[in-house]
Amino acid sequence: MLSPGERPSNGLWIVGIGPGRREYMTGRAIEIITRAEYVIGNDSYLDPLQPLLVGKQVIRSSMGKEVERAQRAIELARSHAVAIVSGGDAGVYGMAGIVLEVLEHSGAEIPVEIVPGVTAANAAASLVGSPLSGDFAVISLSDLLTPLDVIERRLDAAFSVGIPVVIYNPRSHGRPHNFALAIDHARKYYPASVPVAVVKNALRDGEATPLVTTLGEIESIIDTVDMHTTVIIGGSESRIWRMGNNVKGIITPRGYDHKYIY
Ligand code: SAH
Repeated sequence: MLSPGERPSNGLWIVGIGPGRREYMTGRAIEIITRAEYVIGNDSYLDPLQPLLVGKQVIRSSMGKEVERAQRAIELARSHAVAIVSGGDAGVYGMAGIVLEVLEHSGAEIPVEIVPGVTAANAAASLVGSPLSGDFAVISLSDLLTPLDVIERRLDAAFSVGIPVVIYNPRSHGRPHNFALAIDHARKYYPASVPVAVVKNALRDGEATPLVTTLGEIESIIDTVDMHTTVIIGGSESRIWRMGNNVKGIITPRGYDHKYIY
């Protein structure tokens, strides 16, 4: 780990750039990208960074080429300052894991720093109140790297203990049915009244007003769920919070009401 302010001539920075809008990037992420020689990432992450990229070597890579991207970044980082950018937090379904695995395998001695970012769970939660006030689980429905039966077991485990579950990668053209399957698992454990939030493009361009409904009525908005969406299925204690003007959110009480009068 590099100490803040240290400026080695080479190294690898794995940078979470947050949900999208510049004001939700950390100061550290901006600092690192500003001083990197090379910046590597997907187009969708690089485009919003354009003003920071002037005069840099920019390597645009495509989805599904994560291993090649990691290898290229490590090769360059032997002699250059390289930032590899990932949306949200790089350690949450992002590039950090694969880059560290490839680095470990290569045996290369390269300075590395992982720069945390605001992950989609936090971005989405912030738009609908406080649905994740206590323990919660995060589960991706993408079965590209994790078999579907393992995902289903994880869903059951989380729902069986009554905690809110944040769903990433909920529904794509390639696997349109995984989301409905996840809802079926939730219904085994939770009543129809449990709130559900569908949050599209949280804190980035294209942000839509979040939809808050219940497990019993989710079918009516299932078509809006796509890969730009994070879904928060409340826990057994979560409830709909009426913010007024027909705007709804979710509160998951942490238990203060059992201890204090307010
Ligand atoms: N590393 C990222 C997650 C990558 S997985 C992070 O920490 O946020 C990709 C999934 O994340 C998407 O399918 C979607 O479910 C979710 N996601 C990422 N950014 C989002 C945003 N701004 N709004 C809503 N969902 C988002």
